[in-house]
Amino acid sequence: MPKQVDGTTHAGRFAPSPSGDLHLGNLRTALLAWLFARSTGRRFLVRVEDLDRVRPGAEERQLADLATIGLDWDGDVVHQSARLPLYDAAIARLQRAGLTYECFCTRKEILQAASAPHAPAGAYPGTCRNLTDAERDERRASGRPPALRLRAGTDKFTVEDELHGRYTGTVDDLVLRRGDGTPAYNLAVVVDDAAQGIDQVVRGDDLLSSAPRQAYLAGLLGLPAPTYAHVPLALNAEGKRLAKRDGAVTLADQAELGQTPADVLAALARSLGMAADGEIVTLTQLLDRWDPESVPADPWIFHG
Ligand code: GLU
Repeated sequence: MPKQVDGTTHAGRFAPSPSGDLHLGNLRTALLAWLFARSTGRRFLVRVEDLDRVRPGAEERQLADLATIGLDWDGDVVHQSARLPLYDAAIARLQRAGLTYECFCTRKEILQAASAPHAPAGAYPGTCRNLTDAERDERRASGRPPALRLRAGTDKFTVEDELHGRYTGTVDDLVLRRGDGTPAYNLAVVVDDAAQGIDQVVRGDDLLSSAPRQAYLAGLLGLPAPTYAHVPLALNAEGKRLAKRDGAVTLADQAELGQTPADVLAALARSLGMAADGEIVTLTQLLDRWDPESVPADPWIFHG
């Protein structure tokens, strides 16, 4: 049995962006996050990451789908849009410490500069880091509201991941606040996870490369970094991320094919090697069978 922790102070979470319906890969990630949390005595929290890309009705459907396959969570669902003062306070703290600067670059400029030889993949090349006062005034006068970036003191950081082991990745001068005033994803996640007592982050492995940035940022804010488990994604037959066009990818699509929520849970369990063909399983059974070591390392290929 995995090591037990105090559920009053430790939590895991699922943090969907309400930009559309959850597909089976998202549900599988949610199931894994629930199993990781519940098997260790943690609370399980749901946080809606609604700082951008909100599609009306998506949140309600996402929460209903989680509940329909039987996942339960503790306390109220938290919304990032209701927590802006927390992000403001964290940004102000970094500003006071001299760890921020304004960035006037357009997306296109960043892409061009970042594709220069020797630039670490996906890293901001630091174009606006050392502007003189005069240069900054000139750019401010151009009218484009600047983004606020972190003045990072390293270009790499190492995190511990339950599935990937020690993982070292790029840290760059990440955006803290976008030009439109919205707190950036990396900042909000770090602030929320710590504020909510989340010490175990289970999510898709497309975010593994963000973990070093986030853990580094947590340290600068005096916050503990969580442990991570980045789980394999669901891909379509071509090896691309699962999307709507790949067939019956949502619970509602599956229902139209006559698949009950129990059938879908069974399919997710099978994809994790936790149920036999044709076997219907409950979440309690899955919790009994759960062994984090046996999470498949490879993506789940979904064949429509
Ligand atoms: N909201 C993010 C997403 O839906 C997940 C963020 C996270 O788990 O840190 O992709």
